[in-house]
Amino acid sequence: MMWYNKWEIEWMLMTLDNENFIMVCDDSVSYMRDVYNYLDSKTIEILSFFGLSNLKKKRRIIIYNDLELYKKHIEDYHEYKDYMCADTNDGNINILSLEAANQTKEHANMSIDQLKSTILHEFVHICQQDVELEHMENDIVWFWEALATNLGNPERFTKIEIKATNEEIEDFISLRNNYSVSYTIGLYMLENYSREEIIEYVKFPSRLLRDCNNILNNAREWSVKKLNKNNW
Ligand SMILES: [Zn+2]
Repeated sequence: MMWYNKWEIEWMLMTLDNENFIMVCDDSVSYMRDVYNYLDSKTIEILSFFGLSNLKKKRRIIIYNDLELYKKHIEDYHEYKDYMCADTNDGNINILSLEAANQTKEHANMSIDQLKSTILHEFVHICQQDVELEHMENDIVWFWEALATNLGNPERFTKIEIKATNEEIEDFISLRNNYSVSYTIGLYMLENYSREEIIEYVKFPSRLLRDCNNILNNAREWSVKKLNKNNW
């Protein structure tokens, strides 16, 4: 890839790898091994949810210690916004280091634990990319985030009573409390669908699109009932 040479020239690289990923960062990231060990310890459970023994190919996890370099990377795909700190735009996990994230307003207080759980969230997206058999032009974003929040970093989200309409949920970027909504829908699906049924939706998003209104209506009803019974 284009940036790779630039990267090698400009940065002193450190790498740690297993059969699924190679973590890359510069030598000032002192907590790299800690982050690597965390992801390594969680990998098998997430892969097996998706029915994978390994990823299709080894992915890079790049910890950007340079905010400007990360912005440039994002701008190869879309406009950079202050809340952006991790992505899988190129099929690898790209994430800001703690120090770089702390330079942004949105992530001024990011901790190592948050960094670890964010990488795991992105790892779930990578697994989903590997299992998807048909690709639709417009991803069903709430579903991607439903799985990534529940499997990757559930401790970061709260269950809420879903009030948004299906149309509002489908416009995920504009949706209020969007990640908590998708987290709650994910909880509903994991409690009420078999793993196999969920994987069918991962493989064939057109089937999910077909069943979407039904799922969202039921998840909304479920969230109201659960909340009224105080029965989470
Ligand atoms: Zn996500």
